This record gives sequence, structure tokens and C-alpha cells, in this order.
Amino acid sequence: MTARLTIDLGALAANYHQLVRDACGAEVAPVVKANGYGLGIGPVGRRLAQEGARSFFVARASEGKALRSEIGLGPAIYILDGLAAGTEAILRDADLTPALTATEQVARWNGLPCALHVDTGMNRLGVSVEEAQALAASGFQPRLVMSHLGRGEDRAHPRNGEQLARFQGVRTAFPEARASLAASSGLYLGADYRFDMVRPGISLFGGGPLEVPDPRFAAVAKLEADILQIRDLKAGQAVGYGPMFTAPRDMRLAIVGAGYADGVIRASHAKGYGVVAGVRCPFAIVTMDLIGLDVTGAPDARVGDRAELLGPNALLDDLAKAAGSVAHECLVRLGDRAERAYVA
Ligand SMILES: *Cc1c(COP(=O)(O)O)cnc(C)c1O
Repeated sequence: MTARLTIDLGALAANYHQLVRDACGAEVAPVVKANGYGLGIGPVGRRLAQEGARSFFVARASEGKALRSEIGLGPAIYILDGLAAGTEAILRDADLTPALTATEQVARWNGLPCALHVDTGMNRLGVSVEEAQALAASGFQPRLVMSHLGRGEDRAHPRNGEQLARFQGVRTAFPEARASLAASSGLYLGADYRFDMVRPGISLFGGGPLEVPDPRFAAVAKLEADILQIRDLKAGQAVGYGPMFTAPRDMRLAIVGAGYADGVIRASHAKGYGVVAGVRCPFAIVTMDLIGLDVTGAPDARVGDRAELLGPNALLDDLAKAAGSVAHECLVRLGDRAERAYVA
């Protein structure tokens, strides 16, 4: 068997409903940019719409168009890129709502339904607080006013409170608009951060809101591959290319048929693990097509057995940490070489 990626849409639905409970009445608007965090905009978007989601966010107009063709008319689809040059026709034809990020876009969009993205301190996208106030004074009325937190996963960080205070100021300038500040992590910073709508992405797909494994969220993506070969190594024997791994002691190594071309980030080789027969087996090497696992602790492992590289046992947030990255990147890297299966 080649590497297999199983996407559990039931787990996605359960995560959505967990977020709905925790949002305490705020609307949960799924963020499904980058092809549904790599897991497939069609199956992911359709299932979330079926479960009751009425508003979605994507990054690009092209992603919005693809989502619209999957879920049909009805739910709002917000475009985080704003009114990027040349996308006006796509936005209008697919009934997409841009989250405008510059005063100049307000004039170009000419009174059509929109959101306004205000930068409250992340220094990434959006109009400044002063520009937002000026737009409000000129009578501009977006449907939604939104901002995004830069340190939501760090509960104690003062930047959260500073951004919240600025956002509260902006919000009062647009009394007719709905308001949204929190993504997955911000949702858990307290009731003040939830406003009318929350925009979770990663926790829908199983990532803990605080970037550590959180048992409330089920794994949606499971990557597995077969053990192709098992070998016994003597202390001091080098494995694979270059200096990646030298056996620190006599040990047993399983070579598994998946690699970074299937989405396991190479930089995770020193700290990642796979799971064989219920045992966590540290990575030794991660190469393009093959991963070496230290199966000394799983002496019954045999050629043909399955190794889980990501899933309910090999945890997404652990892999992200091992890779020096975030869960979001681990998912969007999964790519399309592994054979995909969706389960309901
Ligand atoms: C990606 C994104 C989100 C979702 O963030 P998660 O950390 O995946 O929950 C929400 N809002 C904006 C503006 C984003 O870019």
C-alpha cells in the first residue's frame, strides 16, 4: 500500500459543533482558505454548510469561486484578500463579499456588500484605525467589521488586550455592522473577544487553539504508510543521506513508504514520531519518499504493518512543534501524492 491520507468529515463536523458550543451564541464562520487547509474545499465546504455554517472565509477570489460552486448560493463567502486588482468580475459573478483592506477599495466597490478589515496592531492587512474612523464619518456602511489577532495563542500576551481595545473603538464607529475579531485561538481568550462572529480555521481541522494538542478537537487528517523494510542497526551506523541520523545504540529501524513529498515536513526529523502498533516511534530520517522510524520499542513491528505519521495518535500539534512550524503548515503541505479517501 502506498501512503494513504484519510480525511474524516465526521471529525470535522464534531469540531465545528464543539466550536459552536464554545462560541456561546457568536456565529461560527469557518475559514477554509488554501483548499480547506489542504484537505479539499469541496468535501470540507459542503460538509460544513450541511452542518449549518452560513458564512465562510477564504483568502483568494479564486478560492471563493471554487467554494461557491461547491455550496451553491446562500451562505456568505468573504474574501480576505480584499478587492485585489482584476477580481471585481469574479467577486460579482460568484456573489463573493470582499473584506476591503484599503480606503481606495471602498470607492472602487461602490456600495456593494462588503466587510471592512481593520488593522488593530498585527501590522499585516487592513485599513488603519484612523482610516476606519474617517470612513465611518463619511457614512460608509460595511456589513461586517473585522480584525485579526497577532498573538491569540498566547493568552497572557499584552498585545491581545491592546488589539481588543482598539477593535472595540472601531466597532462603536460602525453601529450597524456585525463585528468579528477572533480566529481559533481568540475564541478562547474570553467572551470579550467573540463579538458577533468568530472565524476558526485550524481547530476545525483538529489543531489545538493554543497550539498544543487539545483533546476537545478530533484529528481530521490521518496519514499512514506501510513499513517497507526493517533493519537492525549497530551503534554508530549512519542512516540515509548526510549527517541526518547515526544510531546512538544498537536499534531496530523501520523504513516506511511516505516522505516529505507526502507532506511530512523534513525539518521534523529530529523530534517527530510515528505510531506503530500503539507505540510512539521517533523519526530517525525524513527523506522525499521514505521515513525511518526507531521501532526498538515496538519489537513486533513487521514489514507490511501500518505506521501512522499524522492522525489521532501521531498528533498534529506535536508534528508542527517538531517541524518548528504551525499545524496550519503541516496540513497545507499534505499535497496530492498520498492516496486520498474521505470518510463520512
Ligand atoms: C487564517 C485566518 C483565520 C483562521 O485562523 P486559524 O488560526 O486557522 O483559526 C482567521 N482570520 C484571518 C484573517 C485569517 O487570515
